[in-house]
Amino acid sequence: MAFGFTYNEDQLALKKTVRKFVENEIIPVRAAYDESEEFPWPEVKKMADLGLNCMNAPEKYNGMEFGHVGLCMVIEEMSRGCLGIAMTLKANMLASEPVLYGGTEEQWDDWFPGLCEEGQLAAYAVTEPGAGSDVAGISTTCKKDGDYYILNGTKIFITNAKHADKLTVLATHDKTKGNRAQSFFMVDTKTEGVSFGKSEHKMGLRCSETSEIIFDNVKVHKKYRLGEEGDGFKLAMKSFNSSRPFVASAATGLAMGAFEFARDYARERKAFGRNIGDFQGIQFMLADMAMEIEAARLLWQKAAWLLDNNMMAADLSAMSKCFAADMANRVTTNAVQILGGYGFCRDYPVEKMMRDAKILQIFEGTAQVQRIIIGKSVLA
Ligand SMILES: Cc1cc2nc3c(=O)[nH]c(=O)nc-3n(C[C@H](O)[C@H](O)[C@H](O)COP(=O)(O)OP(=O)(O)OC[C@H]3O[C@@H](n4cnc5c(N)ncnc54)[C@H](O)[C@@H]3O)c2cc1C
Repeated sequence: MAFGFTYNEDQLALKKTVRKFVENEIIPVRAAYDESEEFPWPEVKKMADLGLNCMNAPEKYNGMEFGHVGLCMVIEEMSRGCLGIAMTLKANMLASEPVLYGGTEEQWDDWFPGLCEEGQLAAYAVTEPGAGSDVAGISTTCKKDGDYYILNGTKIFITNAKHADKLTVLATHDKTKGNRAQSFFMVDTKTEGVSFGKSEHKMGLRCSETSEIIFDNVKVHKKYRLGEEGDGFKLAMKSFNSSRPFVASAATGLAMGAFEFARDYARERKAFGRNIGDFQGIQFMLADMAMEIEAARLLWQKAAWLLDNNMMAADLSAMSKCFAADMANRVTTNAVQILGGYGFCRDYPVEKMMRDAKILQIFEGTAQVQRIIIGKSVLA
């Protein structure tokens, strides 16, 4: 139960391995992927070989069993290199959350081996054209037909969608009954009636695949429903509470990458005959960046620790995500500022980091949605 600020030996060894991998394999290619918008399959496969494909899987399936604190530590390291590549693997973890919370052992046996042993990808399919923040308002239907459910509807903005083998899909039995009438399903993307629409061209996270998924009379056996009928919304909220510290750690890693680059630049760049790092105006910016990164890390550490100790706290998870996402936007913007005109150019990595940071205030609950959760909690 005690809370500490050190990682154990296994965690530290993995942190070192991931740092080396990011330095050697991710940082050299991130700008090219950002430019081409190609999906980073070679890097994703190498990360799967390191055991990073589905890190939150139970140990039985070769998951890491490092707890949320350890997994956040790994995500922070990966995101320090490239948020887009890191989010591909993070999407596997989010897609797996409803399976972890609502699935039976048989369902776990169905879901995890493909991800952990074969390097398959998964996607979490909740958002729709008419319902993003308002998860209770989704329209994709699941109509009971004997032992099957028939899924119809369209999901949008789904990370990994076109490259995924497996989906967790939220659908409604009766939209008029709101969040009490929703269920989650595990769906194989090869099932008849599943197809993909357009891929989005995005300002950031450009190598991460984001696309539409269309369900046209998709027949799903009842054994693939997670939990009881009507458990879907509850599972979606639990999944977000569990996953938000992962986003917070990703934001911390992204900010760290930008901070380090700007700090090193400030040590070398000359203006008025001195290194710009000698100017107090630049020192204060770097000091604020360092403070905020540390504060964000402490928040995700606490939120993750609460989860690891069976004290899931929606408000702490929301605080960690909200603070870290806002922080990453401030820090990456200031990194661009410290580089001056060079910061605005694609030859330097900080403009990509600034573009990548924006998504952190939007997905897995916008900055406003997090404040709604925190506001409710402080007024309860
Ligand atoms: C790159 C990317 C990847 C994504 N990956 C996934 C994924 O893998 N799976 C998935 O299911 N979804 C995914 N999403 C969708 C994402 O979660 C939604 O875009 C997000 O939840 C916001 O929903 P929306 O876009 O419909 O915005 P809206 O809900 O329409 O919100 C628009 C604006 O209104 C504000 N707003 C809404 N309601 C309130 C309120 N009550 N009070 C105050 N302000 C409010 C919002 O904060 C926002 O600023 C992804 C999106 C992107 C861009």
